[in-house]
Order: sequence, then C-alpha cells, then structure tokens
Amino acid sequence: MRVDVLTLFPEMFDGVFGTSILGKAQTKGLVSLNAVNFRNYATNKHNTVDDTPYGGGGGMVLKPDPIFAAVEDVLEKRNEETTTVPTKAPRIILMCPQGETFTQKKAEELVQEDHLIFICGHYEGYDERIREFLVTDELSIGDYVLTGGELPAMVAIDSVVRLIPGVLGNETSAVTDSFSTGLLEYPHYTRPPEFRGMKVPDVLLSGHHLNIDAWRREQSLIRTLERRPDMLEAAELTDKERIWLDK
Ligand code: SAM
Repeated sequence: MRVDVLTLFPEMFDGVFGTSILGKAQTKGLVSLNAVNFRNYATNKHNTVDDTPYGGGGGMVLKPDPIFAAVEDVLEKRNEETTTVPTKAPRIILMCPQGETFTQKKAEELVQEDHLIFICGHYEGYDERIREFLVTDELSIGDYVLTGGELPAMVAIDSVVRLIPGVLGNETSAVTDSFSTGLLEYPHYTRPPEFRGMKVPDVLLSGHHLNIDAWRREQSLIRTLERRPDMLEAAELTDKERIWLDK
C-alpha cells in the first residue's frame, strides 16, 4: 500500500512514520508512507496557499490550485515509480470535522485499497471545489475541532496500516481487538498470578483452552453491555447470548 499525506507541516509526520510498528512496516516493504508539503505547489510569488473568503467573514480558506496540483503530482510520481499499471483509483480523503466519523469498519474498508491520499486542512476551511471535485471521502475523528488535519490523519493512517497483513507480529493481533469482533475486548492479565492480594482469575491459569475462550467471550459481552450497549444491536450473537444479555 502507498499512503501520501498532503500537509503544510510534513515534519509532524517524521516521528510517527519512522517509529515502532509503522516504521517497521515500511522497513519490511509493506507500506510506503510519504508526507508532501502542498505549499511547494503554490504558484504565487509569496507561496501562499490560503486566501480570504469570498463574501467576507473571518478566517482563511485553503485555495484549490495548490491542493489539486499536489494530488496530480503525487499520482504522476506513483505512476513513474510503479512498473505495473495501477488497477485501482486512489482514495482521496479530506480530513474535516464535517466528514463521516472514522471507525474500525472504515479502517477495514480502507486497508483493501492500494493507494490512499490524505489532505490535512489548517485555518478556517477548504475551498468547496476541493470537496466537490477532488476528494472521494471526508473523514472526521470525532465531534470536536482541532487546529489541523495532521493528528486526525495520523490516527486514521495508524489504524489502517496496522491491519495490513504482516504488519503486526504475533505479539499483537488485530483479530480480537475491540470493534473488530463487534464487541469490546475481554480483560487481560499477566504474571504474577497474585499481586498485592489481587488475583488473576483461576480459569486463565487452568490451561483449559475451551473454558478460557468461553470466559473471554462472556467477559467481552459483559464489558460491551456495561460500556457500549449501543454496539450489541449490530454484534453477531448467538440466540443463547441474546437471551442471557436480555436477563
Ligand atoms: N471551520 C471548520 C469547520 O467548522 O468545519 C474547522 C476547521 S479546523 C480549525 C482546521 C482543520 O483541522 C480542518 O480543515 C481539518 O483538516 C482539521 N480537523 C479539525 N478537527 C477535525 C476532526 N475532528 N476530524 C478531522 N479533521 C479535523
């Protein structure tokens, strides 16, 4: 997979792209992560990428021309770098608080793609033509407003890249994660078996895998019921589990 992020602050991505699981994923050749400064595509002599809004009012608006030019250049570079003709069009994703709320389901959808391009805003907003004629998706990471799209893009990229097969080692698995199963994950314990009088549940020390699986499933159900009952409606549950939860 290839991921390009258009931003005015590419240096913000240095640590995230080069460290830990994302850094290793790149070293293994499983993903290529690139931060592109769209100021380099400004065509005026002061390299400005924003302007005052038509109709007046406060705040600055990101101009369409540098962002369209940056996306076109990224596509050209991708075509030059790949030997095979790309079969899929890229997903061009605008980070904005007005977009669809980002979820694990969306991450599972995006990981099927070959090429993602994220656009990070700053200032007041984007020229509407970017939204209407360039992007394929608009994503929000929640109902609050940040100063820029960089942190939201990092959140989305991290959660997509960790789903690429081979990115997570045996020590971490996405399969049992909260949301992947439609439920919240069960509690975890590690050594020592007793710490300051606090004990690990006996079943986890029993070595009986069927009982451990049953306990984990039950704990997932209880945890989801307590913390996120809204998720249970869409979760895949057996009839027995539904009756048990209804009690
Ligand atoms: N005036 C805009 C509005 O009311 O929708 C908010 C602009 S915000 C100050 C600047 C940039 O931060 C946005 O263009 C977007 O890229 C990013 N941003 C802020 N909050 C976000 C969120 N919850 N999810 C995704 N991106 C966000």
